[in-house]
Amino acid sequence: MEIPWLESGQEIIEELITLRRQLHQHPELGYEENRTAETIAKILRDLGLEVQTGVAKTGVVALLKGKEPGKTIALRGDMDALPLQEISDKPYRSKTSGKMHACGHDAHMTYVIGAAMLLKKYQSRLKGNVKFIFQPAEETTGGAKPMIEEGVLENPRVDAVLGGHVWPDTPTGSIEVLKGPVMASTGQLYLEIYGKGGHAARPHENIDPILIGQEILQRLQSLSSRMIDPLENSVISICSFQAGETYNVMPEKAVLMGTIRTLNNELRLEIPGKIEKIVENVTSYYGATYSLNITHLYPATINDENFTTFASASAKKLLGKEQVIQGNKPSMAGEDFAFYLEKVPGTFLRIGNYNQDKGLVYNLHNPHFDIDEAQLGKISALYAKIAMDFLTE
Ligand SMILES: [Zn+2]
Ligand SMILES: [Zn+2]
Repeated sequence: MEIPWLESGQEIIEELITLRRQLHQHPELGYEENRTAETIAKILRDLGLEVQTGVAKTGVVALLKGKEPGKTIALRGDMDALPLQEISDKPYRSKTSGKMHACGHDAHMTYVIGAAMLLKKYQSRLKGNVKFIFQPAEETTGGAKPMIEEGVLENPRVDAVLGGHVWPDTPTGSIEVLKGPVMASTGQLYLEIYGKGGHAARPHENIDPILIGQEILQRLQSLSSRMIDPLENSVISICSFQAGETYNVMPEKAVLMGTIRTLNNELRLEIPGKIEKIVENVTSYYGATYSLNITHLYPATINDENFTTFASASAKKLLGKEQVIQGNKPSMAGEDFAFYLEKVPGTFLRIGNYNQDKGLVYNLHNPHFDIDEAQLGKISALYAKIAMDFLTE
């Protein structure tokens, strides 16, 4: 007998809405998700799963074992909220001033919990294991990497990983799948240029860090357009340029800060060297010195071709062909799901969240952002079905 996933998802919808609202009302920032972790751990324990808490500080991991041994698939939800004041008159709006689930992580956790409930229900049909990963701090320094370092992909070894993000450009009821790059790598640039201060009327006796800074800034833009393959996507944006105090004194120092993004993890490692060359050339021409610090944050999120094809086929069977959109436009935003995909094949789905009738027109991180609760059962069913199909294929 085919498992009636959608019907089973619909049966638990009230429970899922209650949970989502509970999470939404009590948003917690990265590595402070204590209440969130407690809520999740309790539900998972009550379901009879093996639950581990305190993974990477506030992360929660649960394991559901099938009746027969087999492969292991992991489902991941991120837990943290944003330092943002919610603007809403909905009864379930955030109760914590200045904090809000404005990136839909409350929905992501609910999908994974929903999938755990459904897979538990059909445990007798399960061959292999499902691991449920609740991860802290996606919005800040990233909880994925420390969770992996603490062994979340081992014991039992995870063969595939599935995650998703509510997506404001995709209509509700549909999902979007992308093969290959889906989110960009992120990096930070911090540059201090040390010149020589002095009277603005005698520039030849000084070393002007502002002129040097603007020349570097210009060349960083030509780096993207002239030194990198135009078919590769990269963004270097200088978002802060600070120097000087007044009208007629040339300052000693200029400070530039910016972000570096690409969809190619090899290019990501080449860009810092190219930047350093520009900085070195320009500063040495003018006789200035510098200190450059480039920090890699998240790698690009690269969906595995085979697993994505498989998950997409599985999704089409559940949702219908028209509801599974083949996407081709990655986002230049970052996502630390990338770290799991560096270790195991998997895919990061876009869960449609655009619905004008329901007023769901706001982008992620917007104070008006909300999710479509009517989809909670369906998406939980989708996660559960993909997991079950992967384990039985
Ligand atoms: Zn976000
Ligand atoms: Zn997010």
